[in-house]
Amino acid sequence: MDSMLHSLAIFYKTLDKTLQPQTMDCGLCGECCRRAAGLQVYPLELQYISRFVQNPRIMQKFINFIENKRVKIWGEIAGQCPFQQGDRCSIYAVRPYFCRVYGPYNLRGKNLLPGCVYNGHSTTYFDQKELPLYDQFLNLVQKSNHLYCRRC
Ligand code: SF4
Ligand code: SF4
Repeated sequence: MDSMLHSLAIFYKTLDKTLQPQTMDCGLCGECCRRAAGLQVYPLELQYISRFVQNPRIMQKFINFIENKRVKIWGEIAGQCPFQQGDRCSIYAVRPYFCRVYGPYNLRGKNLLPGCVYNGHSTTYFDQKELPLYDQFLNLVQKSNHLYCRRC
């Protein structure tokens, strides 16, 4: 299990490096985390976050949040992520894949909130397979699915 979490940490570093040159900095307005409906999070990512927060109560809130509002990746249904504190993400260093790509990548060119600094600067995608390092990500998280969580 630890080796998978380590692999995920390395993967996120590579992903962040891949995303950085092609984008501007996030405006940190926090709007996307107030309306993070249907955020897709894999069991390995949950495990990684759980190690970081060490708080079963807030982890359960987060699991309820992602299960109850699984409608769209981002956008139309309002729902504040339990990890948002003020405008900021309290688990920024360990946030899931889809939190990292939101902004630089824009589903069908329609998924960014009004006022998001990435409007006009994002890469449009139509299928998750077009997201950066997605095959590598899927390979990593799917390998581990059976290890920890039967919820997802
Ligand atoms: S995990 Fe962090 S970045 Fe992702 S929706 Fe929640 S507060 Fe926002
Ligand atoms: S809505 Fe855009 S600018 Fe605001 S926090 Fe989210 S990604 Fe950053």
